[in-house]
Amino acid sequence: MKVLTDYVEISTRGHTDIIDITQQVEQVLSEAKLKNGNLTVFVSGSTAGITSIEYEPGLLKDLPEAFEKLAPTGVTYHHDAAWGDGNGYAHVRAAMLGSSFTVPIDNGKLLLGTWQQIVVIDFDNRPRKRNVVVQMMGE
Ligand code: ZN
Repeated sequence: MKVLTDYVEISTRGHTDIIDITQQVEQVLSEAKLKNGNLTVFVSGSTAGITSIEYEPGLLKDLPEAFEKLAPTGVTYHHDAAWGDGNGYAHVRAAMLGSSFTVPIDNGKLLLGTWQQIVVIDFDNRPRKRNVVVQMMGE
């Protein structure tokens, strides 16, 4: 069994920006030439998360609206009192979403659904550069 690690660099606008990284991840997998196993994507940092979604305009509005209900902006967070960086909501949203996502690899392909894209969501309150780790295990 092999373990291979690569990276996908992205720039985000912050503010619950949703970035489709599916093509970059598929490119990493095709260069790795792994046939069977699994692939984990992981975003470093405590104000972004990873999930999958159908990347279409309606859901790109629905998901941020749902996060706004769960951890609203414009209210007081204890984190902001401690650090003064105003992104308490971003940390809470990232913690709820989680920072990694795993996909099985079969015959060199990711077993994603046709309408299922891998997305990084950057909740921070400013533009960021994010280094997304892609780690593959298999043969
Ligand atoms: Zn913070």
